[in-house]
Order: sequence, then structure tokens, then C-alpha cells
Amino acid sequence: QAKKAGGDTVRVVTDVGAQLGAVRGTTATGVVSAIRSGELRLHYQPIRSTVDNRIVSIEALVRWQHPVKGLLAPDRFLPEAERAGQLRDLDDWVLRRACSDMAELIARLADRVPEHVNVNVSVGTLRSGNVAAQVLAVLGDTGLAAGRLRIEVPETVDLTLLTAVVAELQVLHRHGVAFTFDDMGAGSSTLRHLSVMPVAGIKIDRAFVHGMLSHPGDHAVVRLLTELGRDLDLPTTAEGVETPEQLAVLRQLRVPYAQGYLLGRPLPLEHLVSELESGVVSRS
Ligand code: C2E
Ligand code: MG
Ligand code: MG
Ligand code: MG
Repeated sequence: QAKKAGGDTVRVVTDVGAQLGAVRGTTATGVVSAIRSGELRLHYQPIRSTVDNRIVSIEALVRWQHPVKGLLAPDRFLPEAERAGQLRDLDDWVLRRACSDMAELIARLADRVPEHVNVNVSVGTLRSGNVAAQVLAVLGDTGLAAGRLRIEVPETVDLTLLTAVVAELQVLHRHGVAFTFDDMGAGSSTLRHLSVMPVAGIKIDRAFVHGMLSHPGDHAVVRLLTELGRDLDLPTTAEGVETPEQLAVLRQLRVPYAQGYLLGRPLPLEHLVSELESGVVSRS
């Protein structure tokens, strides 16, 4: 059934691309053309418990398998997609693919599948309207339970857009979809956001994790965000964990979750499956 939904995805997205092309009297370019020709890929990176190393979630990260330039990371094409007004198309494609991947994974591996799949949504998409309806439609089509989806909201979402964005998020929240603030500490005005947005967790920007061992200020930010998270019942995830020393400090600070090259690189889903199939693996 998830397979079937996946097939529909391609059709729906292709239609959107074709319509865009028809309206502009041009053929699709950039990300829209990549979607049409099936060149976008999702890699998944594990998010692990710092206590028992269990994979609690997988984050979907988009790549472009470009016919000439090879495998492109998002910083090579997201800015251009944004300028071209194509981020919504990209986010819709990612959401649908990630939800159908997760539904298939659950059908195959049942309780060995992590609790959540994390999907990044851009600010532009959040303010473009109808996001809640889109997400609910995708959940319905793929059969994924709302509680299995985590949407990562950029912490940099502009305060002036807050009312419209919060309204969309509240609708989804009522349907059981949870949100996490991404890259916390990298933007601004974030503490207010925490009190008005229905978030369920905080991801600490990797800049702080990177600086934590040499800069007391960065260490303090990680500690304070985690303490605040504990008070507000918003568990923190440390991003960009690359060394055992960093993981040790995070454990000392009782940061509950971590993500980074040390704990697993973003890889095609199949690479994660063998670890999931063998049950809960403890590596440290
Ligand atoms: P993000 O959501 O904060 O994702 C984490 C980024 O950090 C990923 O980069 C990941 O590969 C990288 N990373 C993970 N562990 C480590 C580590 O230990 N060290 C270092 N140096 N980096 C690490 P990636 O995949 O290049 O994505 C960059 C950004 O692009 C993402 O940051 C997110 O903001 C955006 N992005 C990625 N996929 C999507 C998507 O599907 N939709 C949207 N709207 N944005 C996306
Ligand atoms: Mg993210
Ligand atoms: Mg992040
Ligand atoms: Mg980041």
C-alpha cells in the first residue's frame, strides 16, 4: 500500500511540474526538473539516545543525484531553489517520500523501526499556506500515523510571520504531528518562539557542540538549553557530534539525544536497514 502511495507521489509531483512549465511556457528547471526526472534522493541519519545508543529517529536529508555534477548536498541547490520559488515543491516531495519510506519500513520491520522520521520544512513553505492540509493529505495517502512524523522547523523563522505559521502548526499539533526546533541558538528571538509554538523538542546547533570543548561560552549554551529543555519538557538533541570526547561531555550534561558523524552518517535508507533488522545495537 505504501508502495502504491509512492507511485502516486511521482504522478502528483510530475503534474505540478508540468503545470508550472505550462503556465510559464517553459520546461521545468532546477529542483522541479530534478523531481520530474527522478534525480532527488533522500539520505537518512540516525538520532540516538546518549544513554543506550538506541536509534530514536531518522532524519531525512535531501540530495540531488545530478547527471553531470554527481551527488549534490543541499547547500548546492537549496538557495537556488528558494530564489526560484521551488522550495515548496521540494519540501512536498521530501515529505511524501519520507512518509512513504517510513510506512514501508514499518510494514517490513515493525517494532524495530525508530519512533519517528524527522523531516525538514523551510520557512518559505511554512508561510506559503496550506501546509497543514498538505501534511495531513500525505499522511492519509501513505498510511503513516501522525505520531511517527516529526517536523523540523527552522529556529530562524521570522517573528513577524509567527501568527500564520503558528496557526498551521497548531492544526497539525492537534492531529498528533510533533515539531522540533532545528539549529537552536543559530538564529534569534528563540525563547519567545518556545513559549508560543507547539514544539516537542530542541536541536542544539552543531556550532555549539563543535566549540563546546574549547569555549566555555559554547559549553554554557549546551548546558543551559538542555536544562531549559528539561524544565519545559522539550528534550534536546545535540547536532554534529563527531568525537567520543564530545559525546562524553553531552552525557555528563545529560543531553538525552545526539546526532552526528560519530553516531552515523546520512546514508541511503537500505544502509540503515541492516542495523535495524538486527535489533537494537549498542555501539558505545
Ligand atoms: P540540518 O537540518 O541542520 O541537518 C543537519 C546537517 O548537518 C546535514 O547536512 C548533515 O549531513 C550534517 N551533519 C550531520 N552530522 C554532522 C557532523 O557530525 N558534522 C558535520 N559537520 N555535519 C554533520 P546536509 O544534509 O548537508 O543538510 C544541510 C541543511 O540543509 C540541513 O541542515 C537543512 O537545513 C537543509 N536540508 C536538508 N534536507 C532538507 C530537506 O529535505 N528540506 C529542507 N527544507 N531543508 C533541508
Ligand atoms: Mg534538520
Ligand atoms: Mg539541524
Ligand atoms: Mg544545522
